[in-house]
Amino acid sequence: MSSLFVSSHPLVQHKLTLLRDRETEPKRFRELVREIAILLVYEATLDLATRPWEVKTPLAPAQGRRLAETVGLVPILRAGLGMVEGAWQMLPGAEVWHIGLSRDERTLEPVEYYSRLPVSPTVDVCLILDPMLATGGSAIAAVDILKRWGARRIKFVGLIGSREGVERLSRTHPDVPIYLAAIDETLNEQGYIVPGLGDAGDRMFGTG
Ligand code: URA
Repeated sequence: MSSLFVSSHPLVQHKLTLLRDRETEPKRFRELVREIAILLVYEATLDLATRPWEVKTPLAPAQGRRLAETVGLVPILRAGLGMVEGAWQMLPGAEVWHIGLSRDERTLEPVEYYSRLPVSPTVDVCLILDPMLATGGSAIAAVDILKRWGARRIKFVGLIGSREGVERLSRTHPDVPIYLAAIDETLNEQGYIVPGLGDAGDRMFGTG
């Protein structure tokens, strides 16, 4: 099974509760998604390699460290876009590769409609960004795409996961660590996480 990190940080829990609230307007919703993404990306990058690096302060040389690995952000369209800005604030040099997956409303299985990855991987670590890990279908499809591409280290960063989605992703791709702000127990017949927060894309883009 994958390693699973569910944040119990007070700031994450506070912001997640505001995010779930149906009264939260799209502008505030986007801000909260960005802020929680920052806090989760902090956790998801704890094991990035660094190498020694010397700089000169105005007073003297100082020994420091710099990142030795490159990171690619892979938002799943469209709701994953909301997490890019926060992740970018932590990793301003990150490349961003979009993957478009829509859900077949009958089977609830993902259908790929967009991905333009370069011929071979250009980064050391890929962070898949998708707020809702519901059935797990999209996350698994995104990992499949990245693995076919040749990505070696892949992590999944989301906001809310369903128990079922987490188990499915974790069974299918046990080498992909999962980072979340919460796990909810239930999925409804339409594949929505309950209580969840509704349709993340609609709430973010004001299209609900
Ligand atoms: N996608 C969403 O936006 N919300 C869910 O609950 C499940 C999938």
